Amino acid sequence: MMGGHHAISGTAAWMALAGSATVLGHVSGLDLWDLSPSQVIAGAVVATGAALLPDIDHPGATIARSGGGLTKALTRAVSRAAGHRGATHTLLAVVAFTALAAFVNGLDWQVRVPVLGEIEAGAALLVTILCALGTRALKTVEGRLLPWAVGLAGGLLVAVTAPDTSFWLPAAVAVGALTHLVGDLLTTDGVPFPTWPLVAKPPKRLASPLWQRSGDVAVPLLGDAGSAREWLLCAVLTGYAVLTTAATLAMAPEVLVL
Ligand SMILES: [Zn+2]
Repeated sequence: MMGGHHAISGTAAWMALAGSATVLGHVSGLDLWDLSPSQVIAGAVVATGAALLPDIDHPGATIARSGGGLTKALTRAVSRAAGHRGATHTLLAVVAFTALAAFVNGLDWQVRVPVLGEIEAGAALLVTILCALGTRALKTVEGRLLPWAVGLAGGLLVAVTAPDTSFWLPAAVAVGALTHLVGDLLTTDGVPFPTWPLVAKPPKRLASPLWQRSGDVAVPLLGDAGSAREWLLCAVLTGYAVLTTAATLAMAPEVLVL
């Protein structure tokens, strides 16, 4: 699946699970965690960026091009160590991304910012990075630095409007990264066996596009990455994400006022 498509499916998945706004007379999300509207919006921003994290193993992906030489070197190193669609595309990696987010989020690291006062810098940093990644993948702004400016604004905005990040931030990272795996699972290349690093490989005669010789699994409803079906699905997800986000924003005027 393409970077922008991963990003928007992360937004849509988060809105479906955490959202509660009414769109066209229907409740648009499952409201699983009883979050406030500003927490739902903040989580959507985080899930959008987190949906790009597994492609940290791909030197050509959005994530590689987001932080100049540093992220390029990082993605090249991960790609060499894990291969593309390897270790970072597993449930274990989702657990690791989530644990890392929970750890940084939990650091008691307060920084005084002019006008805003004291903020939790760990959470603000995470939101800044993931917001910049999502902004870049969705091509909402162009250029190298502008996505980071948007990311920083997002990080500071979240620090003010949804300061209790203890639950929704790691949850949004988990939802975003998991959505990435689902997206790749739906294409012909698939993802590693779910219990990776314990991989069950099929006997030769049972190997199929669904359970491949390598042990990778796929439910290739979308065909090859970047197919017309993938574009169509993501057009629908974009519509859903835009409508639900707008309806949630209308319930959280404090986000708009700032
Ligand atoms: Zn991927």
